Amino acid sequence: MFVHERENIDRLWIPFDSVRTSVFLIQTTEGYLLFDCASSEYDIRKLLLPELKKQGIPFEDIQWLFCSHFHSDHTGGLPYLLNDLPWIHIAAKDSSNVPPAFKHRVHMVCDTESIMNDLQVLFTPGHSDDSISLLDKRTNTLLSGDALQQRGIGKYGTGIASPALYYQTIQRIRQLQPECLLASHAYDPLGEKAEGTLAVKQYLDENEEYLLTLEAFVKKQVNADTSNATLIAEQFRNTHPNFPSLPVWTVQTIIRKLSTDEQE
Ligand SMILES: [Zn+2]
Repeated sequence: MFVHERENIDRLWIPFDSVRTSVFLIQTTEGYLLFDCASSEYDIRKLLLPELKKQGIPFEDIQWLFCSHFHSDHTGGLPYLLNDLPWIHIAAKDSSNVPPAFKHRVHMVCDTESIMNDLQVLFTPGHSDDSISLLDKRTNTLLSGDALQQRGIGKYGTGIASPALYYQTIQRIRQLQPECLLASHAYDPLGEKAEGTLAVKQYLDENEEYLLTLEAFVKKQVNADTSNATLIAEQFRNTHPNFPSLPVWTVQTIIRKLSTDEQE
């Protein structure tokens, strides 16, 4: 069932592995946009399309699919959605992960570009290079996808491909001062939504604090004895048993950043 999140914005939760992911439906003056499309044929044909029908949304009014980034829990359903709704335009940062049959549907977005009149694209890399967010200018609501992960979620933890860009993204969103943040997962500890400028500030603070905590932890281990990412991730798990798991690949990107910081 769609959950009403903000004026013009509804969320459909979709099970993914041991966690949940989101598809957002945004109503604009120029029709509907879907923000992400979950992971599989089942998600599209058994969950998303039937729920849209229940909401009374005419499929032909759905004009755009916005791809927050190309991780499978966000865009794995793309071929099935495009097969069933072939008129849809795809908004994405690049087309390299779009199956060849649908590449001609891709509109490669620019930073700060407007789509469907009411929405604005923002480049928010860090979690992945291709992470983009969407601002609903009418209510100053930012859909951040996976760009802001706090402490992460479950066994996936916090995925950070570039700690430096992740930090910049946090600061960029601070300057933007959105009134509401909607994330794609229920991240630990503040969840999937921050409403009001104070809650948004706390949400951003939490992201920044956790990133700095991770960097300090990894730095300490590297200085003390080891630069083995697997071992460091394990040590972090042992010392922070109540946190979501810290992925080894995130530790690796932090180690890489520390070594380039040193060279500079
Ligand atoms: Zn992701």
